[in-house]
Amino acid sequence: MTIVYKASAERAGQWAAAFARQAPDVPFRIWPDVGDPASVEYLLLWQPPERIVETFPNLKMLFSVGAGVDQLDFDTLPPDLPVVRMLEPGIAESMAEFACMATLMLHRDMADYIDQQRRRQWREIQVRAGSDRRVGILGLGQLGQASLEMLRPFGFRLSGWNRSPRQIEGVACFTGQEELPAFLVQADILICLLPLTEATRGILDAKLFGMLPRGAALINVGRGGHLVEADLLAALESGQLSSAMIDVLEPEPPAPEHPFWQHPRIVMTPHIASMTRPESGAAFVLETIERHRRGLPIEGLVSRSRSY
Ligand code: NDP
Repeated sequence: MTIVYKASAERAGQWAAAFARQAPDVPFRIWPDVGDPASVEYLLLWQPPERIVETFPNLKMLFSVGAGVDQLDFDTLPPDLPVVRMLEPGIAESMAEFACMATLMLHRDMADYIDQQRRRQWREIQVRAGSDRRVGILGLGQLGQASLEMLRPFGFRLSGWNRSPRQIEGVACFTGQEELPAFLVQADILICLLPLTEATRGILDAKLFGMLPRGAALINVGRGGHLVEADLLAALESGQLSSAMIDVLEPEPPAPEHPFWQHPRIVMTPHIASMTRPESGAAFVLETIERHRRGLPIEGLVSRSRSY
């Protein structure tokens, strides 16, 4: 069996080294140098090649190199091909770190202070207690839950919203569309950690912002497609939102004239909230292949009907 990698060329060497260390006998090849296509059984990728079935007739499984799979067009993939998203523990750890960092930055008014520094302004803003700040997370999956766990010690009032019901100690959990308004009215800092699907595209819009407490702040670490950019700009302009940390955009990178680059109330990062770590990523892929061979249940298997 051969594993073919087709994702960031810069990181290909790290992946090759990780597989060589952990499974020296397993042939690992980097796209487009795939060797005999008939021997390729596993693909580890961000974007699939065209004509995947014709190119790789013996494909057994496709791994997304990231935790999300919204970059895949399922209509072009064989319906029975198992698609597995990356569940290595490093992704959750890095995302939880980023969620804490971004929450603390907003809680401690860093968007204002960065702006003030640019304008040579020395002005204090009254510090608020953590227990005065309500932090809500959209999406209580692996990353939403890991973020809540890391946020816990800061004393914020925590809540979360999810499609199916969740029970998490010390976290007010809200479920489904009916409970979305009740969740939003009490979220001073809102973190989006949803997958991008038909149901969630454009969810961060004027209507949703209008339900948040006035002056709330937004952290989007889900996907660029969740956000209606013009609505964010309008909400910042009107003061309905105070500031935003934006890690994901559509498309990435944004054009040089994009209004977010210079916006005084937006802190933007280049989709780095979390990154798959090749060492634990390779371990996850190898373990999943082994489980698949033995007919055991597979973690991270994507549901085609839900698209995540
Ligand atoms: P999971 O699949 O583990 O969790 C997604 C959660 O969202 C689930 O709990 C799911 O509910 C919930 N959900 C899905 N659709 C809806 C909906 N319509 N309404 C309410 N809740 C919904 O995903 P992860 O936590 O691993 O990842 C989440 C997303 O984070 C990824 O899809 C990706 O877009 C983004 N991401 C961003 C990165 C970055 O660097 N910025 C890095 C990695 C991921 P249910 O339990 O009912 O299924």
